[in-house]
Amino acid sequence: MPAYLPFTGVRTSQHPNLSPMENQRFIIHIDMDAFFASVEQMDNPKTAGRPLIVGGNPQGRGVVAACSYEARKFGIHSAMSAANALKLCPHALFIRPRKDRYHEVSTQVMNIFKNCAPLVEPLSLDEAFLDISADHANLPAAVRTTEQIRSRIFHEVGLTCSAGVSYNKFLAKVASDINKPDGLTVIPVEEAKDFLASLAIGKFYGVGKVTEKKMHSLGVRTGQDLLRFQKIELERFFGKAGAFFYDIAKGIDNRPVQSRQERKSIGSETTLQTDILELQQVDEVLEKLSLKVEHALQAKGCSGSTITLKVRYHDFTTVTRSLTFPTPLSKADEIMSHVPKLLRTTEAGKTKIRLLGLTLSNLTDRSQRMPRQLNLPFS
Ligand SMILES: [Mg+2]
Repeated sequence: MPAYLPFTGVRTSQHPNLSPMENQRFIIHIDMDAFFASVEQMDNPKTAGRPLIVGGNPQGRGVVAACSYEARKFGIHSAMSAANALKLCPHALFIRPRKDRYHEVSTQVMNIFKNCAPLVEPLSLDEAFLDISADHANLPAAVRTTEQIRSRIFHEVGLTCSAGVSYNKFLAKVASDINKPDGLTVIPVEEAKDFLASLAIGKFYGVGKVTEKKMHSLGVRTGQDLLRFQKIELERFFGKAGAFFYDIAKGIDNRPVQSRQERKSIGSETTLQTDILELQQVDEVLEKLSLKVEHALQAKGCSGSTITLKVRYHDFTTVTRSLTFPTPLSKADEIMSHVPKLLRTTEAGKTKIRLLGLTLSNLTDRSQRMPRQLNLPFS
């Protein structure tokens, strides 16, 4: 198994102190290296360094589920028939999958993700998107966190993984594949354009073998070639997916990272250091809370139609006041514009307050722009 190599800096020497851009996101894609095979090698150290194949019976119709990097050198890859793999590497070690064990290790890995990132979207047992925008002001900080996650996985679980960091899901996913195994690749906003221009079309999200052939027949081999077409032309050739390919070639992919357990509301509340009476102070606190809510909504990629204000008075009696709107809100100033109306029906300004909270519910997903058929894993 490759050793864990600490990453010592952002490989973007020209932007060591990238200033936080408006709405900049920090998305990480993490993929465990040869996951099932690495778990087997970890559990049975005697097999470390050997070509190892996890899969079905090579004498029968078994298929390779995963293989170690040593086996890959022989041209073996997952989804190939086990019989074929045996021909390529007769001395390879064949192991039947132990699904329960992989689930167990996956849970350990996912728990580290959840521990380190506010938003985690698992794609499979060994792969996930993480959105750490809410906790990070700049790219170097986001990269440091990514390194901490990789280090924790190595030291606490015992396995290596590869990570990609960028400002959208597509770039993060492509990036994680660049320095595999045990690698980290960062694609800053400034480098995305050049990176995408030279990226092979087969690496584009949703471009499978069939689409790749069609792209080649149109003379499209890289991202740059794709931009020679109008968006509408690509739509004609590839349907809705064409528009998506066009956008990602331009570096645009607004799909949010979504955790599986959908939240029904997003809110923030604070217990004040000392009870407050003045309406102006109440406003100041609510303004801060509304910004937090805006940020959380943004990270979640949603907006909400119902605002709920929570007020707890000094004697602990608590009231909530709600308003529902026909169009969902997501911005702090939109939320704040409705706060006076909510406050008017409370004792605010007359009775001391010890806690304030703002919640948006009736959430609407803003992510439905992604064509459905593209909801495929990469490989
Ligand atoms: Mg993997």
